[in-house]
Amino acid sequence: MSSFEAISEQNEEIIEKIRQAEKILVGLGEEFDGTKTLMQFPGYADGCRKLKERGIPWLIPEWNVFCSERSGEDSAVSALKKLHSLLEGRDYFIVSTSTDRRIASFDDSRLVMPCGSGLKKQCAGGCGQMLSEVTEEDKDSMRQDFEELFHGRGAGAFLTGTCPGCGAALVLNNVYVENYDENGYLPQWDTYKKWLQGTLNCRLLVLELGVGIQFPSVIRWPFEKVAFFNQKAFFCRVNEKLYHLAKELSGKGCGISKNAIEWLNQL
Ligand SMILES: [Zn+2]
Repeated sequence: MSSFEAISEQNEEIIEKIRQAEKILVGLGEEFDGTKTLMQFPGYADGCRKLKERGIPWLIPEWNVFCSERSGEDSAVSALKKLHSLLEGRDYFIVSTSTDRRIASFDDSRLVMPCGSGLKKQCAGGCGQMLSEVTEEDKDSMRQDFEELFHGRGAGAFLTGTCPGCGAALVLNNVYVENYDENGYLPQWDTYKKWLQGTLNCRLLVLELGVGIQFPSVIRWPFEKVAFFNQKAFFCRVNEKLYHLAKELSGKGCGISKNAIEWLNQL
């Protein structure tokens, strides 16, 4: 058997597992930030460095999306579409540590993004009294700034408004903010926990896609635990480098050594 045949056979097996599962727990990780491909574009890494130097690293999730769209690089979008088609009509829940807001194209009652994204804004001071949707005006402001940054220039981007509680500036609600306001995702985290409680006696497929070790306590460790305690679980881990399974899961899972975006696009 050629290695190509072996890979396609393994993929067929996963697709069959998805079909057979009663519940599907999905983890999306750092590989969905698309940095592997973005690094090839001139100006991307330089832009990241400048955003960090300026003390506004919370703009990086939106900078990633901007560079991806500006360069016509749509492998992440097509991978997400593929995932949509696999999960459509199924009882699934997605936990994402990737901050790419395009992941929010999934049913928001079945998705939680504990690291935030570029969809909400919060108080920079972290007083906890301001959390709202990003406006069209904010998007325009960021787009203009990113256009400058893309050409090697760049002024500081600001979001509109100030915090009604303490008067501080507003920033995007994601984990790259010094005073990250976790209320942006905690209500949905409760929904996730309730969904998870209902999986124990079900045929559960755990699909962990492109999750690295930046935030291991959010997806990697708890997902392994869930699969370990569920007698009918199957664990599928797809990751370019960190694809090995914990030995406790031997016999009830597989590790696929591939970038999750590329894997989905070839499935
Ligand atoms: Zn405030």
